[in-house]
Amino acid sequence: MDDLSSLKGVGYKTVKILKKKKINNVFDLLWRLPKSFIDRSVLSKVNELQIGKIHTIKIIPIKYNFPRIRNLPNKVFCEDETGKIDCIFFNSYEGYIRKILPLNQEVTVSGKIGYFKKKYQITNPTYVSNNPSLVRTVHNKYSLTEGITEKMYNKILDQVLNNLPTIAEWLDQKILKKFDNISWSEAIKKLHKPENIGNYNSNFYKRLSFDEILSSFLIFSEVRKKIKKIKKNKKTFTSKLYENIMDRLGFNLTNDQINVLKEINNDLSSQSKMFRLLQGDVGSGKTIVSLLSSLNVIESGYQVAFMAPTEILASQHYNLAKKIFPKSINIDILSNKIDVPKKKIIIENLKNNKIHIIFGTHAIFQKKIIFKNLGFIIIDEQHKFGVRQRKLLSDKGGKNCDILLMSATPIPRTLTMSIYGDMDVSIIREKPNHRKDIATYSKVENKINDVLSFVKKNINLGGQIFWVCPLIEESKKIDHVSAIKKFQHLNKIFPNQVAIIHSKIDDNEKEKILEDFLNKKFKILVSTTIIEVGIDFPNANVIVIENANKFGLSQLHQLRGRVGRGSKQSFCILLFKSNLSENAKKRINILKKNNDGFKISEDDMRLRGFGDILGFKQSGIKNYRLADPVLNEDLFIMAKEEIKRIEKEEKNLNKYKPLLKLYDQADVINDII
Ligand code: ADP
Ligand code: MG
Repeated sequence: MDDLSSLKGVGYKTVKILKKKKINNVFDLLWRLPKSFIDRSVLSKVNELQIGKIHTIKIIPIKYNFPRIRNLPNKVFCEDETGKIDCIFFNSYEGYIRKILPLNQEVTVSGKIGYFKKKYQITNPTYVSNNPSLVRTVHNKYSLTEGITEKMYNKILDQVLNNLPTIAEWLDQKILKKFDNISWSEAIKKLHKPENIGNYNSNFYKRLSFDEILSSFLIFSEVRKKIKKIKKNKKTFTSKLYENIMDRLGFNLTNDQINVLKEINNDLSSQSKMFRLLQGDVGSGKTIVSLLSSLNVIESGYQVAFMAPTEILASQHYNLAKKIFPKSINIDILSNKIDVPKKKIIIENLKNNKIHIIFGTHAIFQKKIIFKNLGFIIIDEQHKFGVRQRKLLSDKGGKNCDILLMSATPIPRTLTMSIYGDMDVSIIREKPNHRKDIATYSKVENKINDVLSFVKKNINLGGQIFWVCPLIEESKKIDHVSAIKKFQHLNKIFPNQVAIIHSKIDDNEKEKILEDFLNKKFKILVSTTIIEVGIDFPNANVIVIENANKFGLSQLHQLRGRVGRGSKQSFCILLFKSNLSENAKKRINILKKNNDGFKISEDDMRLRGFGDILGFKQSGIKNYRLADPVLNEDLFIMAKEEIKRIEKEEKNLNKYKPLLKLYDQADVINDII
């Protein structure tokens, strides 16, 4: 039943029109919810009509006027006992009009009332019927496109709703009971009943939302199972290598780090392939954890590839490894800066297993690079991969290769479930002890002099400053202009102590500036929001963010994470153009009181809706049609539990196929189930 053209009254032309509205199949029709409805149940007399409103009237056709001239409409003059009204038809044939409006017989007509040459008229009435009860009394309005009328649309939809196939229930009894045992088809019908519009708390709405969540979780579960099925050689290690390192590091791991390390080590030494996401705020100590687990992989005889999003991050990780790893371990880095002969040697060494761990950007996955015995891929600050891309990634490196993705973007739990459902997830919430909370202040821009003297004071105390200028309205196309202006301004106040970085500066130059900043060659770095948040600048302790109201809380928190990496007290100053609204104050307070990115993202999502969280809507990650990660947290958790049960108890998933199809996962099923 998925093909639209199989419906009555849907020809090639209508299919094309529906496609314009992104209705490609029957399922798209089902999940387009009515926006509002029109009540046509009240009958009016002609002398009561209001121009521009929709009315339903009982009238008698008196006379036809068929001009037979192109572009002139056909007319039917009608009346009731209180007045006259014309029915006007563009693009309707005479025969058809004679049939639906026979002279001298009462008919019920419904449509929008117009007024022309001192007479009421209805142009192309929505309903004409000699049986008043056939005029639908209450009618849904969907947002439609030109070329398709409300009546046509409702007729098409009615066909689908009235012919929903009978399919055996896929939900478990216990779950179904929670939704008052409403069947999926009953629920869908209710969804389209005018009186139910916006009834998100109803059983039918929740049942369908649950179905939707379950269908996407089922796909995740299948991907997971596929990956877990791959039997790999266990990695065997003693963890001796890294126990020595802890002395060299000069700190102890936090409890979260210890736990996560255990989870990773368990995966490494198990027979199934690891496919794990490590989430933790910037600075929570993910890198160290991943490096320590690398040592185990190396001890067990495999190579490690550590992929970072930028060269500077790659070299920061590389330098850290150089510093803390035993001399017996061969470490190298593939970067653009390396000349060709050296590159050749590296490639040779990777082939011969002479390099144990290689750092680099995605360049380390070029075709010409062949590992002798790759056993572990670490991807830092991973970009937003979809489930398919991740599956590809997991296939890379062969069956013995474990995979760890690290993300410094704390997101709400329901989002993690809906984005990374195919992966095992480890979380570091706890920050290393020495990290002081970043003191966060908000200031109105006209207090800029206070901010400047604060900056001066911190420079004198040996600190460094990030100054962030986001895109501002006036200069949408050239967002670096405001940064350049600020740079010039600050440079006058702090001569030779300011540098600038923005999108127009090329990558090599950018890296050089960042390196100079790292080496304290200047004190203030003015930038747009382009700087990666993962880079460690231990000496930077103040970040000033202009136009702070342009950002979501999560993003502000991420920016703020650029400071506070050293032992000095760090500060974040949020600048605003004018006095803050109550709501803005509320949001800023969340930020001031909190340094836990997960908590902030949850609050942010509650305040702004899920689509806005760090631009996830734009990132092409699946958006639910019914379910809402904010409102339906309970359903997400329920679905996760249910998946666990299904994984344990159900071997054959055939009964879920209609469910997957219903929610348009059809293309994925073929690949996966
Ligand atoms: P992330 O990768 O999560 O952003 P990093 O691993 O880069 O965080 O750690 C940030 C900083 O904190 C580094 O300088 C690191 O040496 C330090 N660090 C990591 N773990 C601890 C710990 N348990 N105690 C003290 N400092 C730590
Ligand atoms: Mg990091």
